[in-house]
Amino acid sequence: MNDPASATTQISAFGTSFGEMMAVARFTHDGWDEPTLEAVAPLSMHPAAHVLHYGSACFEGLKAHRGIDGVVRIFRLDRHVSRLRSSAERLCLPVPPEPMLRQMIIDTVHENLHMVPDAPGSLYIRPTLVGTAPNIGAAGSPTSEALLFILTSPVGDYFTGGMSPLRIAVETNRPRTTPQFGTVKTGANYAMALGTTMEARERHGVAQVLFAPGGHVQETGASNILLLSADRVLTPALDGSFLEGVTRDSLLSLAADRGMQVEERSLTTDDLVEWCRDGEVALAGTAAILAPVGTLVIADEEVMVGDGGVGPATRALRQALVDVQVGRTDDPHHWTYPVD
Ligand SMILES: *Cc1c(COP(=O)(O)O)cnc(C)c1O
Repeated sequence: MNDPASATTQISAFGTSFGEMMAVARFTHDGWDEPTLEAVAPLSMHPAAHVLHYGSACFEGLKAHRGIDGVVRIFRLDRHVSRLRSSAERLCLPVPPEPMLRQMIIDTVHENLHMVPDAPGSLYIRPTLVGTAPNIGAAGSPTSEALLFILTSPVGDYFTGGMSPLRIAVETNRPRTTPQFGTVKTGANYAMALGTTMEARERHGVAQVLFAPGGHVQETGASNILLLSADRVLTPALDGSFLEGVTRDSLLSLAADRGMQVEERSLTTDDLVEWCRDGEVALAGTAAILAPVGTLVIADEEVMVGDGGVGPATRALRQALVDVQVGRTDDPHHWTYPVD
C-alpha cells in the first residue's frame, strides 16, 4: 500500500474491521427521520425488538474501490439500492426512499474515504435494515419501527496468496430457501442454508454448497454460478429461485461486450457434470468477484472441473470487471459512481 491516505488502514479477516462512521435513519409512525452520521458503536434496542423474534431483517453488500487514479468509486450503487428496497418490501419492512438510501451510502463512503484500501482491497459496504418495534405480540404483523444503517468494512484481497480453485458440494435434495424468499437478501436464507453447508463441510471438506434441488442448478449459499469457456458463458436463467446477483449481471454484460455467447437458461446437474470435462466453473459475487471452482462433489463422487486449475476465461472475465471497478478501462455501462 503506497497511498498515504490509506496507509493507516488495517485490514483484518473479511468483515471483522469496520469504518468509523455510518449513516443511520430511523423509521417510526411519523415516517423516516432525517438520516444522521454516527460513530460505529453498539446499537441499543429493546429486547422485544421485532427483528430479534420475527426475523425482520435484510441487507445489501456492495463495494467502493480506490481507482488507479486515486478516485474512490462505488460499484453499481443503483442496483444495490433497488435490491434492498425490494428485499424490504418482500419482508414487509418499511421501504427506504430511493434518494435517501442512495445518499446515505454515498455519505457513509465519503465519511470513510480515508479507510478505503488500495486495490485489490476495497471498502465493503453493508446497508442493513431491521425491524425495531418493541412488541413480541407482533408475530403476525409488520414492524412499526425500523432502523437502517450503512456499515462499512475495509477488506483486502479476497484471494491473499493467489486464487486457488474451490471445492464445492452439490446438494440435490435440500433447498437453499423457500420460493417466496429466493430473490430476497435476508439473513433467514443464510440461517436455512447453514446446517446443510456445515454437514457438507464435515463430510466432504468443501468450502461451499451448490444448491440444485431436484437436479436444477440454482446457486451456492452466497454466490451465483457461471459456466465458462473461451467463447461462451452459461448460467441459470433468473427464475425467482436464487438471488439476482449484481456481479452475475455485470459479468454477463462484460462477456457479451467481449463477443462471448451468453446463455441464460435452466441448467441441470447433468449439464454441469458434462461441462466439467473441458469447461470452467466459477462463482460470482461481490466479495470474491469471480472465484474458480476446481472440484465438485456430487452424489459422493468427485468431479474435477477441467484440469482443476484456474481457467483462462475465468481469469480474463474477472480482470475485465476489476478493470472497470478501478477505472483502468472505460465504464461504458456507467456502473461506477465517484465519491469525493
Ligand atoms: C449477495 C448474494 C449473492 C451475490 O450477489 P452480488 O450482488 O453479486 O453480490 C448471491 N447469492 C446470495 C444468496 C446472496 O445473498
